[in-house]
Amino acid sequence: MKVAIVGAGLAGRLLAWRLVQHCRDTDQPIAVTLCDRQSRSFMGTGRIAAAMVAPFTEAVTTESTTRELGVVSWRLWQKWLPQLEAATGHKVEFNQQGTLVVAHPADLPDWQRFQQKAQADTPPEAMQYWSQSELQQQEPELSHAFRQAMYFPEEGVIDNDSFYKALDTWLDSTQEVTWHEGMECGELSSTGEATRGYLKACDEQFDYVFDCRGNDAREDQSELRSVRGEVVRVHAPEVNLTRAIRLTHPRYPLYIAPRPNHHYVIGATTLESDDDSPVTVRSALELLSALYSLNTGFSEARIQFLQAGLRPAFNDNLPRIVREEQLIRINGLFRHGYLFAPALVDEVIQSLC
Ligand SMILES: Cc1cc2nc3c(=O)[nH]c(=O)nc-3n(C[C@H](O)[C@H](O)[C@H](O)COP(=O)(O)OP(=O)(O)OC[C@H]3O[C@@H](n4cnc5c(N)ncnc54)[C@H](O)[C@@H]3O)c2cc1C
Repeated sequence: MKVAIVGAGLAGRLLAWRLVQHCRDTDQPIAVTLCDRQSRSFMGTGRIAAAMVAPFTEAVTTESTTRELGVVSWRLWQKWLPQLEAATGHKVEFNQQGTLVVAHPADLPDWQRFQQKAQADTPPEAMQYWSQSELQQQEPELSHAFRQAMYFPEEGVIDNDSFYKALDTWLDSTQEVTWHEGMECGELSSTGEATRGYLKACDEQFDYVFDCRGNDAREDQSELRSVRGEVVRVHAPEVNLTRAIRLTHPRYPLYIAPRPNHHYVIGATTLESDDDSPVTVRSALELLSALYSLNTGFSEARIQFLQAGLRPAFNDNLPRIVREEQLIRINGLFRHGYLFAPALVDEVIQSLC
């Protein structure tokens, strides 16, 4: 099978890896051409992301599909990441310590609403209630600011730096993948050439062309929109938080995602906009004050970056796999790229091979 993948972001890279691996496992020949208009070091959406894998807490404010796809992806990450580490020798940090949901006293009504919805939607084994003394034992640096927490054990955070590094090493060392950086491909429409498997930019014919262009597929998928998100990344040697923390907030879900060696990502704003210009002062103040309110040890943290990115979303904020003859589009990952991409990629591969 000969395939082209247009867009080497999160979905495109993951698809290239898993497709080749699947064909190797099943003794099928495969050649993948991976094209991206950027270089591989480009700070794209998947790199900006906090990379939380949170099927249960995300489902509370969205649809049950979020939980269903998220649980599938969670299990696939647990299976796939050790394979990637073994094949490349690169450690990929996957924090599987769960998520804590907390609220400051002023936001307690939001926390209680979240709790009611979570209790109705979440299997009992996937959610616990922690008192202040349990918080003191399990996550002591939170117990000064919060009296209680909801705990979701089967959630976590992927360190996307180490993930991309390992994945790029794997793709580079794989003879089945040819990676074209700085190659722009367009006209991936149902009337364009890609439908018949021909890609003008490569001047080649393929069995399948995958459109994994994220936000930039809007020219061919008119229902796609962009949702701006902003994050801050800090290094805080004085802070020792081990789990992902979600702070109920009246305007958007705020979270702190722990990374290795006392690094933390806090995000994310959610703004209906296709403006990907730098982070605003207002958003930076909101994110940083939320961080400081959680633990005053963050006051001496060093800001590593403030980044804005655009999430590709359809009207229902759910992802879609759209097949138009030999053209297959995977898009609409919204704020759930890490939560949805493994499940979608696996579904596509099972349907083809
Ligand atoms: C602030 C923020 C926080 C987030 N946090 C999380 C989180 O905690 N958990 C989670 O699951 N998700 C999170 N996400 C969402 C996640 O990052 C996205 O859903 C995911 O990155 C989308 O992946 P994609 O492959 O569809 O698009 P992208 O990763 O954007 O990749 C698209 C690629 O296509 C390339 N391309 C575009 N047009 C062309 C063209 N014409 N020719 C060639 N190449 C092209 C681009 O250069 C790009 O590399 C977050 C997103 C943001 C912005």
